[in-house]
Amino acid sequence: MELTRRHALAGAAALAASPLLSNSPAKAAAPLADKQAPSFYRYKVGDAQVNAISDGASTFPLPDSFVLNAKKEEINAALEKAFLPKDKVTIYYSPLVINTGGKLVVVDTGMGAANFASSKGNSGQFAGNMVAAGFDPKSVDMVVISHFHGDHINGLLNAENTLAFPNAEVLVPAAEWKYFMDDGEMSRAPAGRMETVFKNARRVFDAGLKKKVTPYEMGKDVAPGLQAVATLGHTPGHTSYILSSGSEKLFIQSDVTNHPALFATNPGWHLMFDQDPAMAEATRRKVYDMLVADKMRVQGFHYPFPANGFVEKDGNGYRLVPAPWSPVI
Ligand SMILES: [Zn+2]
Repeated sequence: MELTRRHALAGAAALAASPLLSNSPAKAAAPLADKQAPSFYRYKVGDAQVNAISDGASTFPLPDSFVLNAKKEEINAALEKAFLPKDKVTIYYSPLVINTGGKLVVVDTGMGAANFASSKGNSGQFAGNMVAAGFDPKSVDMVVISHFHGDHINGLLNAENTLAFPNAEVLVPAAEWKYFMDDGEMSRAPAGRMETVFKNARRVFDAGLKKKVTPYEMGKDVAPGLQAVATLGHTPGHTSYILSSGSEKLFIQSDVTNHPALFATNPGWHLMFDQDPAMAEATRRKVYDMLVADKMRVQGFHYPFPANGFVEKDGNGYRLVPAPWSPVI
């Protein structure tokens, strides 16, 4: 401590005395960029190329019922333990563009281009960042949807409510389609959030896509090397994927956990957005035990960008160990 402080003081004194500093030209007064660089990250899984593309993030005050079975002070303690500010949450969104078996496959689509303006650029970045990463939305062959929450489906439409991926087949979980397109289920949905989820799914799939989708079944390949895995609970048809190429595998968890600092650390916590919290918890524990046992790399839609790493056991829960950034593919 003493050494560090003395070192810092000496450093400051040296800087103040520096002739370089006092004589430095006005270059440093040039305006700093006020935007982050386009955020995307590529890595290989066997011969497949995975591109994590940031859709941005949303920050909001910690809701009273964010975790149904934990007190606010417990949530704040978990946030502080993870070096995150208290009393607010930042939720990240990371759709994928995967080049696999000669197909260009988008997995989930983010908050949508209309959200880019309404969020003042904080989210809805997927469309722009995808182009910055070198992908033309017209070249996308397939869009695979994990579940029907707005942060996963709204990007199917662009800001003018036309198709964001005009040449792509849109693949949706059959169970999710059956549930959210059922008028009886919709009429029984509680007012408030669930009603909004139903209405938004109808807006996107009825008005937007005119129901032109291909439902897929669990356990089947939805795209070359991309197998659908039932991870139910968050929604009735919630799906994860195993991407396999050669001897390598990646688990794409979708929303098995939301922010890992809260829900990997505390797998028993019930997120307010989990439709069947007990089933979501059972799924979470099963998936994370599998990730630990198999040492499988995992990509998480709501993990901090670039949203991938490995999972280890940590006390009564789990810890996400981010994969090291590689400057080359
Ligand atoms: Zn989500």
